[in-house]
Amino acid sequence: MCPPKFFEHVAGQATSRRDFFKFGLGAAAATATALTATQVRPTFAQSVSFNNVADLTHIFGTNTPLYPGSPEPSINIHVTIEANGFYGNILQYWEHTGTHMDAPAHFAVGGIYVDQIAPSALVVPIAVIDISARAAVDPDTVVTLDDILAYEQQYGTIPENAGVFMNSGWASRFNSIPAFVNLDGDGIQHYPGFSREATDFLEAQRNIAGIGVDTLSLDPGNSMTFDVHVNFLGSGRWGLENLANLNQIPPSGATAFVGAPKVATGSGGPTRVLAVW
Ligand SMILES: [Zn+2]
Repeated sequence: MCPPKFFEHVAGQATSRRDFFKFGLGAAAATATALTATQVRPTFAQSVSFNNVADLTHIFGTNTPLYPGSPEPSINIHVTIEANGFYGNILQYWEHTGTHMDAPAHFAVGGIYVDQIAPSALVVPIAVIDISARAAVDPDTVVTLDDILAYEQQYGTIPENAGVFMNSGWASRFNSIPAFVNLDGDGIQHYPGFSREATDFLEAQRNIAGIGVDTLSLDPGNSMTFDVHVNFLGSGRWGLENLANLNQIPPSGATAFVGAPKVATGSGGPTRVLAVW
């Protein structure tokens, strides 16, 4: 909400800017600014003109699957229009809740925080690796190096700075916490993730920006060693967990806009991920 003083301040600025442009100097400066902006425009591997948009983000709510042991989120109304003239909530949550980013600092000592991830690493071509048929019969399955190579046979080499996303079909379970977390009698989770051999290849041979999964963890649920978290995040790259709607986008040719939070010293956080193609 913007207090009245803010609007007065902005209105004052607009008036003085109009006066500035009357004298012509402002117009010349504006042209110079536009040219500079064109000259420094970054080039990307593919065009970002698009016809379709998909939201790869689950709704952030309080009744959401969490990695076992994580603190529960809360959303509390702080002010209401009826009582205060404006509406707003106070949220409290563990950074690794809902569709969210894991920044390198989450598992790597000295790894960059979420606010330090380069903007160019957050607008990325997407490769979707579909292992949903296998995951339907084996929840402990992982994305293997063979899966990556088979994908490349069909769709071409995964480009640099890509986001490689696992579609295991798990997003369809998101509204059932027991089905999503999928604990066995010993409290072990069972859902798919990436294998270390796949992420080592993507990191060393393809120089990708990050990986994403539609489950609670980059590593498979039954992992006790978190090899992918340790090594892939340790290489300075990001991970996304609990992605949604990966079955709505093409396996190749979409671009992701990864809206990671710009929180100082953040280890990650709830992230809006949009795909366009
Ligand atoms: Zn996380």
